[in-house]
Amino acid sequence: MSISPIAGRHFVAGQWLPASKETFASRSPANHNEVVGTFPLGTPNVAHDAVAAAKAAFPGWRRTSRIHRGECFDRLARFIDRDTDNLAKLMAHECGKTLAECRAEVIEGLHMVQYVFGTARMPTGVIVASEIAEKDAFVRRKPKGVVAVITPWNFPFAVPLWMLAPSLLEGNTAVFKPSEDTPSVGQRIVELFVEAGFPSGTINLVHGDGSIGEALVRNPDVSVVLFTGSYDVGRRIQQISADFFDRSVAAEMGSKSAVIVCEDANLDLAVNAAVISAFKTSGQRCVSAGRILVAEKIVDEFAKRYAASVRRLRVGDPMDAQSFTGPVINEGACEKVLSYNALAKQEGGEVLVEGGRLSDASHKNGYYVSPFVYRMEHGSKVRSIREEVFGPHVALIPFKTNEDAVRIYNDTDYGLSMAVITESFRNMRLFREECEFGMGYVNLPCIGAEVHLPFGGVKKSGNGHPSAAGLVDVVTHKMAWTVNHGTEIKMAQGLSADVG
Ligand code: NAD
Repeated sequence: MSISPIAGRHFVAGQWLPASKETFASRSPANHNEVVGTFPLGTPNVAHDAVAAAKAAFPGWRRTSRIHRGECFDRLARFIDRDTDNLAKLMAHECGKTLAECRAEVIEGLHMVQYVFGTARMPTGVIVASEIAEKDAFVRRKPKGVVAVITPWNFPFAVPLWMLAPSLLEGNTAVFKPSEDTPSVGQRIVELFVEAGFPSGTINLVHGDGSIGEALVRNPDVSVVLFTGSYDVGRRIQQISADFFDRSVAAEMGSKSAVIVCEDANLDLAVNAAVISAFKTSGQRCVSAGRILVAEKIVDEFAKRYAASVRRLRVGDPMDAQSFTGPVINEGACEKVLSYNALAKQEGGEVLVEGGRLSDASHKNGYYVSPFVYRMEHGSKVRSIREEVFGPHVALIPFKTNEDAVRIYNDTDYGLSMAVITESFRNMRLFREECEFGMGYVNLPCIGAEVHLPFGGVKKSGNGHPSAAGLVDVVTHKMAWTVNHGTEIKMAQGLSADVG
């Protein structure tokens, strides 16, 4: 497809910086000969300047009326709505997700912005009772300062907006570092913020790889780091941040999510949910199911229907409406998926659908990998069913009892999402109470987000600060505010106010 290549720039203190000598290119995963854009490679100096600009803008922005801050989001929502189709096309071109998925992601980002605008007139706080009748006591929130937003490539529009929107509405200022695989979408997001009239310095953009992200994390003037990406990087960011005693870090990381298909499941619904969970976005969602746990009594029938359904999936050009899914993001991702397919075989997996690199004429210039499905008995040392693959690779794992299913589900280091397919409220409750996860679904795929729900996980999937609306808790600190309406001082707990 032809979209003119973008000439990216850093955006610091309200200025698009001049082109720099050192650049990197973003290429389409559907055709690596197509350059989507060229971007400046950030340096520690640029990171420093961006943080300084955000720090300088913070006092003025936090004093701006919350309603006026909200109005910037109203304008932003209108511009996103206006540009939905172009944003979706750019995203599909740059990250390889199908156009329909990209459109849904733009709308998810739009919903976040609309939600934030809606809450602008309704700050969250609490009025609490005081022991002294004449006192009114409140819990109020204040913004924390400079927020560094470091994001992955797989949700290049919605995830940055989940983070930027609540941060800025609450009165923080931001430095945004998009993934080096999707800098064009990051650039468009900031252009829209600029068009919406966010004042100079409130939002800053730096492009580059992990080293520029790390330069932001090492900057002592950053009060909050909002990170979404892999566990290894999230852990490193938390380790570095431990040296900054009052910094908050929200880290949303990987998963080995699962669909649990109970003996009483509606099989058509179960197959549908399990296909969507494993293969939408070519398995490259943080919540993608790498495991389908199936009750032993129905596993043969389920496997037959599941394999037939997977074989019908079309892997192809993200712009083609017939494609169910597009390529994976880059050569490294292809190699990773193929190596885990080989590992699953070595570990004793029975292949139900053979997957591999697609290299015919319509796929040869892209990073296309077809779905791989195998049946595997659960074992605590079997790496292929415990580690995140982040690609079209899924195991069917039989279980005997629901209690076994709970044990198998929990036997990974991750805990992001799960779905249970059952007609029984008792089964549903057992899995809700006993499985370790942040997002649970019943008779649905284990993927899908709505911005007003917290999005996050436990164990190696998240450090307890879910994204989207849930982030308000991380980007603000709560303060107590007590006012005496009496004419004399009365203290709580019977403490004397007598000064003799
Ligand atoms: P990644 O961890 O490789 O990169 C994420 C971001 O971190 C990028 O912007 C990258 O440049 C930056 N980065 C890399 N090294 C850094 C460092 N040392 N310091 C600071 N920043 C650094 O992840 P990815 O490949 O872009 O995304 C895939 C991963 O993201 C998967 O593990 C997936 O499960 C996870 N993910 C999680 C969620 C969630 O909500 N839990 C959502 C989407 C993706």
